Amino acid sequence: MSKIIFFGPPGAGKGTQAKIISDFLKVPHLSTGDILRKKLSDKDELANELKNIMSSGNLVSDDILNSIVSTRLKSEENNGFILDGYPRTLEQSNFLNDFLLNTSNSIEFIFNIQINFEILKSRILKRSTEENREDDNVDVIETRYNEYLNSTEKVTNFYRVNYTNIFHEIDGSLQIQEITEKIKQILKKS
Ligand code: AMP
Repeated sequence: MSKIIFFGPPGAGKGTQAKIISDFLKVPHLSTGDILRKKLSDKDELANELKNIMSSGNLVSDDILNSIVSTRLKSEENNGFILDGYPRTLEQSNFLNDFLLNTSNSIEFIFNIQINFEILKSRILKRSTEENREDDNVDVIETRYNEYLNSTEKVTNFYRVNYTNIFHEIDGSLQIQEITEKIKQILKKS
């Protein structure tokens, strides 16, 4: 079963594509942002802590993320997975690599959706009216983008250099359907 990672800055469309490809391949979509947003409704201490961090656009701690992801990956081990929003730090990618090694699994495709800051800013603002997300506003977008540049881009570069054969750059400024087509072509060829 397919094991795929989607990379890209916030607003690049990785969530949209991950969902489409998850339906297409019938492989579970594991969005850490979605999982964390669900936890916000728990109304306990952890939910409060998460709300503060997420609404400011900063990253949630690696310990919380690694624990969430390993629990989910263990339960999906035989079904494959599409990771969306994880790993976002080098600590998370080390954890993931160890986890995959220990469970004799490996990633088959990595898609990096690239897009410039001006396009993603306007996309995120549009999404804010549609999805009512607290972190989709001009002030927070900059923090989220900086978190991406400071942490996640290093992770992307690590995979770009070490996983050349399975790492695919995707132009995120294209229309949704065009991007999906490009991804499907790559999946078909391999
Ligand atoms: P997303 O929906 O992927 O943009 O994630 C929304 C927010 O959830 C991010 O701005 C972070 O605060 C948090 N988050 C999601 N995934 C991670 C991760 N892998 N590591 C740390 N924080 C995360």
